[in-house]
Amino acid sequence: MAKPSRMETLCVQAGRRDDSPHRAAVLPIYQATTFALTEGSFRGMVEGKPRECLIYSRYGNPSIWSVEERMAALEGAESTVVTSSGMGAISAAVLSLTGPGDHVVAPIGTYGQTVVLLQRLARSCGRAFTPLPDAEPDTIRGALRPETRLVWVESVGNPLNAVADLPTLAGIAHDHGASLAVDATFATPVLQRPLELGADVSVHSATKYLGGHADLTAGVVAGSRERVDAAWDWMRLLGSCLDPHAAFLLERGLKTLHLRMERICRNALEVARFLEGHPAVARVHHPGLEGHPHHERAGRLLPRGTGGIVSFEHRDGDAGALDFCHRLEIFLEATSLGGVESLVSLPFNTSHANLSPRERAEAGIAPGTVRLAVGIEAAEDLIADLDGALAGTAAPRG
Ligand SMILES: *Cc1c(COP(=O)(O)O)cnc(C)c1O
Repeated sequence: MAKPSRMETLCVQAGRRDDSPHRAAVLPIYQATTFALTEGSFRGMVEGKPRECLIYSRYGNPSIWSVEERMAALEGAESTVVTSSGMGAISAAVLSLTGPGDHVVAPIGTYGQTVVLLQRLARSCGRAFTPLPDAEPDTIRGALRPETRLVWVESVGNPLNAVADLPTLAGIAHDHGASLAVDATFATPVLQRPLELGADVSVHSATKYLGGHADLTAGVVAGSRERVDAAWDWMRLLGSCLDPHAAFLLERGLKTLHLRMERICRNALEVARFLEGHPAVARVHHPGLEGHPHHERAGRLLPRGTGGIVSFEHRDGDAGALDFCHRLEIFLEATSLGGVESLVSLPFNTSHANLSPRERAEAGIAPGTVRLAVGIEAAEDLIADLDGALAGTAAPRG
């Protein structure tokens, strides 16, 4: 039989089974820090292959290897390394893809701490960094310098759902001798596999959709064996290894990733369509809507679904948006996304609070912008919750 390749099956079946005499259906948690040294592990260390040997859990562990194999199958990657957070993955990726003297470009709207990391590496570790207004091909092309070695983008941007044109960006980066790294947190491998679209490395905050239950913090770097070995080496030095119990939880979450994403995408599109027709809503940002600037691109690059994030502008600005949030009963006002439960947050006081009002306006985030991270509840219930909260806040219009 050919190896299964469908995402539904890989989510459930990829990775390891218990190969002990007990043959448990689920790999038991190896909550152990160290393993008996063998001839093989001594040889591996001498031959410079410590990643392949069971030595010490910061280097690797059966629970970690198991979820790494599953993630590699999902990403269509030669190799992956899991980390203790998304930022652990991003730090390891950036440090392994760049050296002193190298220049990095990324949109200013990139995840806040990624931008801070790039700024910090520029200030104290010999890298140079140029923040860009967006991830459009012309913007990226125009920012390249002879020493540019890394183009960093997010597959789908927060909170306006800009969809990056990965095949074109990969061409631009590679023609220049630079790498393309993609933070694929919002799309997940169910919706898009960046490596197949030309990216050199993809990273995830597995804290979000991959874990999927708002109960673990983790990250992933995926790519060629050579690139992931280099990221693994930084992970080992930074100490951002994943705990075996969190590795087990992440693997459990991955088994339902396909099911959850299917439902989340359907719910998000229904919510977006409802909001589009509501008089208290000035504008809705979701790539599944015909009016979104990247709707056509999403059809090509996210054919299996347009994600779980729906942002919209409340007509009564930030005050109206705040009031709306407080009236919701199902949506929890909390930062983060990707869990089974629906969340709501306002970029102006959370994800984009580090920008000035003018910078927020330049990034396209108008006053009154609300970000919904849609979960797996019944769409009818979510819409009723939104409808009730909007009805309470919309100023009467003549
Ligand atoms: C949350 C998030 C991160 C950071 O991940 P942590 O797991 O919180 O370290 C990075 N990128 C994106 C797009 C995120 O949403």
